[in-house]
Amino acid sequence: MWKLIFWAIVIGLIIQVIKRNLSAKANRASENQKAAEAGIENMVECDQCHVHLPRSEAFLVEGKFYCSRAHIKSDV
Ligand SMILES: [Zn+2]
Repeated sequence: MWKLIFWAIVIGLIIQVIKRNLSAKANRASENQKAAEAGIENMVECDQCHVHLPRSEAFLVEGKFYCSRAHIKSDV
């Protein structure tokens, strides 16, 4: 019986550690978002013409940034 309780505690701790790691990653992502909202925006480069523009003004398509709809490669 005590073995069962012991393992339940061990498994519970492991799950907590995993959850903490996941939420740490989520916090980092939301910090980036906060920075963007505060005006400290990341600059991104258009994959087509290599012009730099703020992240919020760029179009993100399949992991690549574009400055305008016209520069989004339409190989769909
Ligand atoms: Zn462009």
